[in-house]
Amino acid sequence: MKTIGLIGGMSWESTVPYYQTINRVVGRRLGGLHSAKVALYSVDFHEIEQLQHAGRWEESGEILADAARAVCRAGAAFIVLCTNTMHKVAPQIEAAVDVPLLHIADATAARVKGAGLSRVGLLGTKFTMEEDFYRGRLESRHGLSVMTPPADQRGLVHRAIYGELCLGKVLDSSRSAFQQVVDGLVAGGAQGVILGCTEIGLLLRPEDAPVPLFDTATIHAEAAADFALDV
Ligand code: GLU
Repeated sequence: MKTIGLIGGMSWESTVPYYQTINRVVGRRLGGLHSAKVALYSVDFHEIEQLQHAGRWEESGEILADAARAVCRAGAAFIVLCTNTMHKVAPQIEAAVDVPLLHIADATAARVKGAGLSRVGLLGTKFTMEEDFYRGRLESRHGLSVMTPPADQRGLVHRAIYGELCLGKVLDSSRSAFQQVVDGLVAGGAQGVILGCTEIGLLLRPEDAPVPLFDTATIHAEAAADFALDV
């Protein structure tokens, strides 16, 4: 079994289910008392969030590159970055270490295509919904057609992520608002919706939507456990 290098804390609320899912998959596949070999580096999300909103991505990338070097020193055979947004600096992390980074968009796209879907909605931070590093990868590398909500709804989702979900606040009012956003995407032709923020799965459950929801935190964690076990 390979040791997984988890870079978490963005936010820690979503790193907890990563750790749980990874261990559950390893336990299920190997049986008995087996659990995952994990080196976890958890950052202070306040520092990362400040740099994000100041547009200082290079500096945030350096913090995560340092984290990647640290988990490699602890024996990590590959890197799992427990956030969609910070994949914006994935190239900086990849350049810092000799081990592969298991990209969250690749794992998610594989699951979407495995379900036979090609046209999907995407929810996440404004960075994830509006910039090319994530959506562009889904489209150009994986041939998916990606839709995002209109600007006012993108703002609503972004604010709920930072102001509620990353603080562990799961509100029924926000669940209803997110359901309306999902319904709008479905009305526009989305066959499924990617929860492209690792905290949204804490709010929206499969039964909250009329189409399949692809929870990137769960998908990424399951892919990490499988990659760790595959020789
Ligand atoms: N965890 C979130 C994501 O998946 C948002 C927090 C962050 O900006 O890293 O994008």
